[in-house]
Amino acid sequence: MSVSNPVPQRFSVRAAELDDADPLSSYRDLFVDAPSVVSYLDGNSLGRPTKAGAERVARFVAESWGGRLIRGWDEEWFDLPLTVGDDLGRVVLGAAAGQTAVGDSTSVLLYKLARGAVALRQGRDEIVLDTDNFPTDRYVLEAVASELGMTLRWIESDPRSGVHADEVAAVVGDRTALVVLSHVAYRSGYLADAASITRIAHGAGALMLWDLCHSAGSVPIELDEWGVDLAVGCTYKYLNGGPGSPAFAYVRAGLLEEFVQPIWGWMGREDCFEMAPGYRPAKGIRRILSGTPAVLGMIAMRDTVELIDRAGIRAIRAKSVLLTEFALELVAESLVPLGVTVASPVDPSLRGGHVTIDHPHFRAVTPALWERGVIPDFRAPEGLRLGLSPLSTSFAEVVVGVEAIRAELAAGS
Ligand SMILES: *Cc1c(COP(=O)(O)O)cnc(C)c1O
Repeated sequence: MSVSNPVPQRFSVRAAELDDADPLSSYRDLFVDAPSVVSYLDGNSLGRPTKAGAERVARFVAESWGGRLIRGWDEEWFDLPLTVGDDLGRVVLGAAAGQTAVGDSTSVLLYKLARGAVALRQGRDEIVLDTDNFPTDRYVLEAVASELGMTLRWIESDPRSGVHADEVAAVVGDRTALVVLSHVAYRSGYLADAASITRIAHGAGALMLWDLCHSAGSVPIELDEWGVDLAVGCTYKYLNGGPGSPAFAYVRAGLLEEFVQPIWGWMGREDCFEMAPGYRPAKGIRRILSGTPAVLGMIAMRDTVELIDRAGIRAIRAKSVLLTEFALELVAESLVPLGVTVASPVDPSLRGGHVTIDHPHFRAVTPALWERGVIPDFRAPEGLRLGLSPLSTSFAEVVVGVEAIRAELAAGS
C-alpha cells in the first residue's frame, strides 16, 4: 500500500496566486453563502444562487405576483419565455432573437424538438445518437423511435472521451433524419466539435439537435454561426436558475415556419386567448410552448445571464480552463498515487467545465465528503465529477476539495 501525504503546501501558494490574478474573483461574492460548504464542486449539477437572483425572486413574490396578481400575465409574464429566451440566445447561445424559448424541462423539450424534427424528414427512418449520452436523451429517443417505427443508430462512444466527428461521418447517410448529441459530455466533460459535426449531419441531409446542458454558461456557443438546427439545455446548472428551473429550446429561424411540435397546448397556439377551435401553431418560437410557463422558475437565471454578459463568456471559459488544469495537476500529484484515474480529456481544448476521476471506492467515500462540506457528485460506476463553475469557484476551493478526497481515500484503504 502506498503512503499518502497531504497535498503539498506549494499548491495552496499557487492557488492563492491564481485567485489573486483571477479577473473574475470578485464574482464569487455575488453568490449566496453556504456556511457549511468548504468546497462546492457541483456547480455543473446545481449552480449556486446569486444574491441578486434571490432578491429578484423575493421582489417578484411581493410586487409582481402579490401586487399585480392576474394583471401580471398581460404586463410581463406572457412574453417572459421569449424575453428570457432572447437574452439567453444573445448572451449564452450565439443566437439572434426570436429563436429561443424557455419552458418545460430538458427531457420534455428534447421530446418536442426531436419529434418535430423527424416529422420534417419524412421518408428517413434513422436517428443517430451515442451510447454514453445522458440517460434522458437516450430514453426520449427510444420513445420517439418506437412510436414511429424508426431505427436508432448508436455510436459506441468512449465514456472517457466523447463523440468524434469521424464517428458521426461513418454512420450518417440518406436514411438519417436526425443526429442528437451532447455538446459537453455529462460524464467525461468531452467537448464535441459542434461546428464540424453539424456540417457532417447537414452533408447527409439530416437535422442536428445539440443538448447544451453542460455547455451553456461554461463554453462559448455559436448556434447561428454553426448552422445548428435545434438545441436544448437546462438552466439550473451553469445558469443558476435553481432546482427545476425550466429548460430552453432553440429552433433555427429558417425551420420555424414549418416546425410543429407534438404537444398541442393552448399557450403555443396562435391568438391563444381567443380560445378558438382547432390548433394552429403560433408564429415564431412561441409555438414551442404548450401550457402555462413556469414564470417563477425563470426569475433567478436572469441575474446569471446578466453576470455572464458582464464577465464575457471568453473570460469565463479562460478561467474554466485554468480551473480544470489546476484540478488535474492536483489529481496527478495527490490522487493518482492512490489508484485514481482521470476519465476526462487531458487536452483542455477538448474539455468543458468539469473533470471526472475514477476509483472503486468513490461511491463509499462520497457521503463522508459531503459530511465535511466537500461536494462533488458521484456518477456510477466509480466516477467522481469535479464541477468547477467559473464564476463561483476559487482555486483555493479546489485544493481543499482534492485534499479531502485524498484524505478520505487514504483513510478507507
Ligand atoms: C442535466 C442533463 C439533463 C437534464 O434533463 P432534465 O429534464 O432537466 O432532468 C438532460 N441532458 C443532459 C445532457 C444533462 O446533462
